[in-house]
Amino acid sequence: MDTHEIDCIVIGAGIAGASAAAHIAADRRVVLVEAEEAAGYHTTGRSAALWILNYGPADVRALTGASRGFFAAPPAGFAEVPLWSPRAMLTLAAAGDEVALEAHLAVGTELRRIDVAAAVAMVPAIRPGAVGAALIEEGTFDLDVATLHQGFLRQVRQRGGSVALRSRTMRIERRNGAWEVEVTGGTAMRAPLLVNAAGAWGDEVAEQAGVRKLGLVPKRRTGVIIDPAPWQPADWPAVMDAREAWYCKPEARTRLMISPADATPTHAHDVQPDELDVAIAVDRMQQMLDIEVRRVERSWAGLRTFAPDGSLCFGFAGDAEGFFWCVGQGGYGIQTSPAAGRLVADMVAGRDAGALAAILPAIDPGRFAGTA
Ligand SMILES: Cc1cc2nc3c(=O)[nH]c(=O)nc-3n(C[C@H](O)[C@H](O)[C@H](O)COP(=O)(O)OP(=O)(O)OC[C@H]3O[C@@H](n4cnc5c(N)ncnc54)[C@H](O)[C@@H]3O)c2cc1C
Repeated sequence: MDTHEIDCIVIGAGIAGASAAAHIAADRRVVLVEAEEAAGYHTTGRSAALWILNYGPADVRALTGASRGFFAAPPAGFAEVPLWSPRAMLTLAAAGDEVALEAHLAVGTELRRIDVAAAVAMVPAIRPGAVGAALIEEGTFDLDVATLHQGFLRQVRQRGGSVALRSRTMRIERRNGAWEVEVTGGTAMRAPLLVNAAGAWGDEVAEQAGVRKLGLVPKRRTGVIIDPAPWQPADWPAVMDAREAWYCKPEARTRLMISPADATPTHAHDVQPDELDVAIAVDRMQQMLDIEVRRVERSWAGLRTFAPDGSLCFGFAGDAEGFFWCVGQGGYGIQTSPAAGRLVADMVAGRDAGALAAILPAIDPGRFAGTA
């Protein structure tokens, strides 16, 4: 069997692996291996496609903020259409639960309280008396995830790397100073550096490689598409319940995506939506919005995968040379991807991470040493 000698093997071609591989390929020979036929088949192809600055722990917020400029002005040739379009985020506290906004205001930036009448002017479907307080984040936006993802995959190829689809890792072994990886179909490769960007499968890949697991937990989240006619939601903001019990956003001009914001722990697999979660999404949305749902047009689920403390895990494993973790992207992997890919490339190259150096202790996988 021929063994390809390269500099870096990245496992998992979702947004995490694609963005990391694109940046690493600038100065290393990279192969990006993906088990499925299509690179975005799992969580990356199942997101809500939002960029929200005030979302997630501090390390995530830092990377989200550091990614903003890329979405607004990507490098020449990266994409033929804009990666983003403006979409404000309206956060609503139920009547009697106005205090729910305080937690957002305490840690958030670029947030503004608005009165309920102003919220109703933006989303006329709000039920009279249902909402007690509201705030708006105006700088948020919708993302074109497919274009972003394809842009990173194209960069990998343009920079001399390759993307190997239908290539699930079957054997990962450290031998004579390099990782040997054999994938389905029999291809074998060898590289001193291995980046584990396998999303929900991150711990399984570690186990294959004989590396201590981190205790990653994939959590199911559901999306539901409905027709809100006669409402016309195209220009509505995205709407989030202040306790994150549900959210919705306009989709394809005339439709609405709603989610029960579920986070059900499960195992890594091709997750499907549960009918109960679909019903909960509709019910919770209807408590605040007067939208009749005659039919659910489509529903799906994806796995948001978290480390035990909810922060990212980027860094070399303490117990295996050349094994780099790039996991724990949770519900923020798309909006953080431009800065995350650059940070991972800087870290593997030993370069200064600049302003992002401040988050390195929080995202160090070594914080779980011996706990999983
Ligand atoms: C309903 C929902 C809404 C969301 N909304 C947003 C949002 O608005 N904004 C946002 O930023 N994020 C959002 N997210 C989260 C975001 O989608 C994820 O953080 C991101 O897609 C994770 O990317 P990933 O590359 O880590 O995982 P994945 O896309 O799952 O990629 C991992 C890849 O690794 C491959 N793989 C696994 N094991 C192996 C192996 N042994 N060999 C080869 N390949 C392997 C898998 O096939 C998979 O393709 C949402 C998620 C869901 C489910």
